[in-house]
Amino acid sequence: MTPELERHIRTFVSFPTPPGVAAHIIELAQDPEIEMGKVAKAVSMDPALTTKILRIANSPLYAQRRKSENLRQALVVLGLNATLTLALSFTLVRTLRGAKPNGIDYPFYWRRVLTAAISARALGESLRQPLAEELFLAGLLQDVGMLALDQALPDLYRNSAQLQRDHRALAELERKQVKADHAEIGGALMCSWQLPERLHNAISASHEIRQDRTEDPNEIFNRCVALSGLVADLFVLSEAKREFAETARIVERSIGLDKHAFGQVLGTVSGLIPDTESIFETDLRAGNNPEFILEQARDVLMIRNLQALREVNTLKAAAHSLSARTLELEEEAQRDALTGAYNRSFLDAYLAREFDHASRQDWPLSIAFADLDNFKKVNDTFGHQAGDQILQATARILKSNTRETDVVARYGGEEFVIALPATDSETARSICERIVHAFQNARHDIGASHTTVTISIGCATHGALTPFRSVNDFIRAADQALYTAKLAGRNRSVRFDHQGQFQAVRSI
Ligand code: GH3
Ligand code: MG
Ligand code: MG
Repeated sequence: MTPELERHIRTFVSFPTPPGVAAHIIELAQDPEIEMGKVAKAVSMDPALTTKILRIANSPLYAQRRKSENLRQALVVLGLNATLTLALSFTLVRTLRGAKPNGIDYPFYWRRVLTAAISARALGESLRQPLAEELFLAGLLQDVGMLALDQALPDLYRNSAQLQRDHRALAELERKQVKADHAEIGGALMCSWQLPERLHNAISASHEIRQDRTEDPNEIFNRCVALSGLVADLFVLSEAKREFAETARIVERSIGLDKHAFGQVLGTVSGLIPDTESIFETDLRAGNNPEFILEQARDVLMIRNLQALREVNTLKAAAHSLSARTLELEEEAQRDALTGAYNRSFLDAYLAREFDHASRQDWPLSIAFADLDNFKKVNDTFGHQAGDQILQATARILKSNTRETDVVARYGGEEFVIALPATDSETARSICERIVHAFQNARHDIGASHTTVTISIGCATHGALTPFRSVNDFIRAADQALYTAKLAGRNRSVRFDHQGQFQAVRSI
């Protein structure tokens, strides 16, 4: 790009700068010492963004056995870097979509770049490249220069709907009219927005698809981005214009994926389209059926069966259920045999870790110490076996009244401790109240007779305003509150109060 042109573009571009949240996230991303707490704070200032991050953490891309129910858990699942990158994708897309298009066919533009973003990621994964989210972001922003040009020169893309479906010809038109194509301009823009260097390099290079051998990870990153546009064309162009064989050849020469591996990439992309559509609220299909596109790919590439195209997804699912099973086995060693609740040693390790986490990140952590009332009498009246059944029922009631991410553990005999991560004192209070109520209403049928058993609970919250010095102090506080509940007549919950006074929450 000539200096004059650059000046021209800068003068005429009434291009949106990144909004506050995105600018803040860009700034955070540049800090190598970035902490989880800061990222969470930046993201949580934007409720729509928070929702999207949660949705993506719970999507098949990151399928977890446990659902992430709050931002903190989602951050743990995604990791810091991925969260920052995804947060950037969402906020930038939102800003860029806000500008009024002049000659650009917006629906087609977004369909293509979002499909390219998935494709860049899928290509990278099939080469076992790290940086999946960065590939997604680079794929997504590769044509941002078109948006800049459309704002600077409103007539440039007018009446070019057909041309916009031929990316190479479009870039030629740009070079003829403004001496630079949108890849160069996009790269310059990324630079002025101070986005990571990897991003400007990949976007500037997104129109040159080199086909010599390379092992350089930066070069492979750039090639995945450049190829992603061609892969996206297979999904967004009309049937007659899909160049499967030619694209497969270029992909093989450029990054060494053979046609079978390429077919699997297509299968992955097609599988990710529905989720990406819903997360980015965009119709990516516009009448094209991804299944049909896969069939067409199979025919043209002469891949024997369609199943091969889905293998990657199946393998992924198998690996996932395998690791879930490993987790389950690990968990069995952490469970109490009678009730299936977590055992004491798991709880101790869990609390040590969570306490530390909560202290560093300023997240609240609550615990509830629960003890069945007059349980000795139950054993004396109905027998030990009946007592066991009631302990099992107790674990069920505790679990069904807490979230999946809370930890219900058997502390000893008829004592249970529930750890409530990221839960403030007020929420913990209402959970305890709900539990006391549930026990009051539970009827235990034992042989011909039936009985009810009540519970007493003491709870405590380790938070910014009410910190404890150690896990031991923390547990002791909950235990003291429980003792107060027992003294006050049982069948109630009491909250530990840092002023030294206990707050009874429920009375009989
Ligand atoms: P409080 O309301 O003061 O807690 O009275 P309590 O009778 O519940 O308290 P205590 O701790 O004195 O008695 C607990 C009883 O729980 C004693 C023991 O027989 C019974 N217990 C402990 N572990 C088991 C178990 O695994 N199975 C059965 N059936 N009973 C158990
Ligand atoms: Mg008891
Ligand atoms: Mg007891």
